[in-house]
Amino acid sequence: TFITFEGGEGAGKTTVLQAVKKKLDDAGKKAVLTREPGGSIIAEKIRELILNPEHTEMDARTEALLYAAARRQHLVEKVIPHLKAGYIVLCDRFIDSSLVYQGVARKIGLEEVLKINLFATEGLLPDRTLFFDIDPEVGLQRIAAHGGREYNRLDQESLDFHYLVRKAYYDLKNLEPERIRLIDAAQPLDNVVEVAWDDVSQYIEQ
Ligand code: C5P
Ligand code: MG
Repeated sequence: TFITFEGGEGAGKTTVLQAVKKKLDDAGKKAVLTREPGGSIIAEKIRELILNPEHTEMDARTEALLYAAARRQHLVEKVIPHLKAGYIVLCDRFIDSSLVYQGVARKIGLEEVLKINLFATEGLLPDRTLFFDIDPEVGLQRIAAHGGREYNRLDQESLDFHYLVRKAYYDLKNLEPERIRLIDAAQPLDNVVEVAWDDVSQYIEQ
């Protein structure tokens, strides 16, 4: 089972993922936690290249191709082998991030970005996706309150960019309501974990 966690900046995806992974471990399930861009040595190098704040001249399509390349490598090295071995694979971001960030917010177009990603994944999509929804202003404040991040070119984007991201996630959810579940990430962390865990545990038992 392939489950992805999506959402804008500061939604708490990574923290909630760690909590859900622990619950899966405690329940005796075979689970692995990974992230995008990254999750393998080559893909983490591509991540550094994309997110380097000095790379301000990076073209949107170059960026989209690099994300797709990182995705491909991570799938081949890590996601697919674990799925084949019967693991529940929990992934921090996946294809929807590309559709939303590069396709919509960077205005390449959803169809174009979908095409290169279907090439990269040979059509593999997540079984289930949790979309952690937060007002971008609140999310960015959360990040700032935690001392900010050191290495992220996205910190140079406007608030409008992040609102485009949020709207694009809503649109995707409406396009694929069976796969994508919206979770209100503005609630206290314990509640968010509870809702996410209910969803994941029900999904894997069905
Ligand atoms: O989820 P995480 O914060 O680790 O993601 C790293 C950064 O890469 C974030 O700022 C995210 O918005 C950005 N990103 C992006 N396009 C993607 C995936 C991630 O701009 N397709
Ligand atoms: Mg994170």
